[in-house]
Amino acid sequence: MKQSQLFTKTRKEAPRDEESKNAQLLIRAGFIHKEFAGAYDLLPLGLRVVEKIKQIAREEMNSIRGEEFIMTSLQNKKVWEPTNRWDDTVVDVWFKSKLKAGGEVGFGWSHEEPIVEMMKNHISSFRDLPIYVYQFQTKMRNELRAKSGILRGREFLMKDMYSFSKDVEQHEDFYQKSIEAYTRVYSRLGLGEDTFVTFAAGGSFTEFSHEFQTICEAGEDFIYINREKNIAINEEVYNDETLKSLGVSRDDLEKVKTAEVGNIFNFGTQKCEEMKLYFNDESGKQTPIHLGSYGIGITRLMGVIAENMSDEKGLVWPESVAPFHVHLLTFGKNENVFREAENLYHDLKNAGIEVLFDDRDAGPGEKFNDADLIGIPYRVVVSERAAENGGVEVSKRNEDDLEYIDPSRVVAYFTEK
Ligand code: ATP
Ligand code: MG
Repeated sequence: MKQSQLFTKTRKEAPRDEESKNAQLLIRAGFIHKEFAGAYDLLPLGLRVVEKIKQIAREEMNSIRGEEFIMTSLQNKKVWEPTNRWDDTVVDVWFKSKLKAGGEVGFGWSHEEPIVEMMKNHISSFRDLPIYVYQFQTKMRNELRAKSGILRGREFLMKDMYSFSKDVEQHEDFYQKSIEAYTRVYSRLGLGEDTFVTFAAGGSFTEFSHEFQTICEAGEDFIYINREKNIAINEEVYNDETLKSLGVSRDDLEKVKTAEVGNIFNFGTQKCEEMKLYFNDESGKQTPIHLGSYGIGITRLMGVIAENMSDEKGLVWPESVAPFHVHLLTFGKNENVFREAENLYHDLKNAGIEVLFDDRDAGPGEKFNDADLIGIPYRVVVSERAAENGGVEVSKRNEDDLEYIDPSRVVAYFTEK
């Protein structure tokens, strides 16, 4: 893409009411726009990052047999009543409205009850199980505080998956697979080393649920970790009983600040019993279904990456989710130099390399500053000075080293990577 055609502009200052580093950087670099606290638009650059995070999650959910679908944001009050979760004193994040035709409507903060209701049409026999479905959905939550930028939105994007299993074994088998798939997602996002599968409070059916917590200064959670034993415990279940059952002592654990980037949860058969979703087992007996719920915070992840992978100059995207792979810069009045840059732009594009070409009429200072702020992993500079040094200048956003490469070799340089 040509940068002259990108409608977003970088800016020196973030809005004064924006306290969080992730939103400050993402706003200044033109990835998001703040509508109000907790509500952010995804601009072209931000959308590209989000789509890449989604694609990684999608591939990993597909690899464990997930089927993608999409449910509505508008929700039926009736569906939430049998479990008592329409009640605002039970769920304190509801946004609700009234239908002109009469009756109330809810804005989806979760899709657990609606998916169970829907499955009544699709599950009747043990032969129908297991079922694994997932979606990427805009969730609405009336969060009291929204001060962490896109880490805590009032409207945000979640990947939510649901498993329907006939018994504990079938459920457990998938639950373990989901942990592995989630682990692959975070490691592909470049967050593997800082993300911990964490024991957290369970429901009435299990002692624990599992959260995926990434070390992050802007996070709102604290966990206790032991890196050697690969154990992590959420503050809410950090007690003698938990420590004993995991075979660790307080001295073995380090307290770190984290952001919850995923959460998987076993509902047992409780919710399907409350909502009357049964199947006929092998002997023809009506049996309640085991339900699992698996969430990943897609937009929160973009925020965590912005927080953890940035420096004083701006964002530093990992290659897996960067909006573009290469930032091509050129400047000066020399027409031959510009033409060479433009040719290189077309060659890179034709080779399938995602390139942002800064073709704007601006000086090197402005272009370098913007490139640092936007944080694309590789930079290629076509200029008179680079030509004197033997070609075009290639560098990485997070390294000081420069390489000079003959223009004819640039495409090969990137396709070989
Ligand atoms: P939190 O404890 O941070 O409020 P939660 O436990 O209520 O989150 P879940 O219902 O488990 O959230 O949602 C699944 C995932 O969605 C979370 O692990 C998190 O990554 C993400 N998420 C939850 N709430 C928000 C939000 N307000 N803004 C952005 N992402 C969110
Ligand atoms: Mg959670």
